[in-house]
Amino acid sequence: MSNKIFSAFLIRHGDTTLLFDTGLGKEIAKQYQQDMPHWQRPFFRYEAPVKSAYEQISATKVALPSQIILSHSHWDHASGLVDFPGVPVLVANEELALIRNPSNGVGGAWPSQLSSSSIQWQGIRFDAKPYLNFASSLDLFGDGRAVLVPLSGHTAGSIGMFVTVDSGKRFFLTGDLTWNVNAQKQARPKFWAASLLCDADSEQTMRSISQVQSLMQSDPALIVLPAHDGHAQEQLGYFPLWQK
Ligand SMILES: [Zn+2]
Repeated sequence: MSNKIFSAFLIRHGDTTLLFDTGLGKEIAKQYQQDMPHWQRPFFRYEAPVKSAYEQISATKVALPSQIILSHSHWDHASGLVDFPGVPVLVANEELALIRNPSNGVGGAWPSQLSSSSIQWQGIRFDAKPYLNFASSLDLFGDGRAVLVPLSGHTAGSIGMFVTVDSGKRFFLTGDLTWNVNAQKQARPKFWAASLLCDADSEQTMRSISQVQSLMQSDPALIVLPAHDGHAQEQLGYFPLWQK
């Protein structure tokens, strides 16, 4: 937010690609105009022009994603969904409830982004299978390379994704649990006003933050990547650069 980055992550597995979050899409200007409440505009801005995930991927030979996973349904994560019509979109079942009833701007989920009939929603059911310090998880490929876990608090159905690349390096995409890695390391909640405005359940958010903090302490090699941490993203580089 403050550092104005809206990350979407493309994961390549064999011939298929997955997109985790969509960042700001082609229609962001129209969506913002339609659904961002006027009183919130000073707090939530973005800088045009936006190079959408769709435009970036289709400028290369990389396959368009066959699935999209949303960390949660907020506008700065879901904006690009309509750019990928017909592509299945995985979200936690708790998030589907918000998505099916997006009230104008309240809670940050926007009808202009979520109500299109071209979006193929798929609710996620987590398996009662522990992964690291999470009691339940969903292994997308069955080989431990991309594993979803619940991270509720920021929204009821917020999720995170672990990605293990060929070298064995493990990333953890944490959406909006914290705005940056430092806050996550220190288990610091968001600035109170931001938390009030953005986190649906601040106590549950704090519990999820603590859980990820203890994971970072037990596995210092784990690379945690919040969606809006420009500094962390800068260190890794940007598409079409791959982490291997
Ligand atoms: Zn959010």
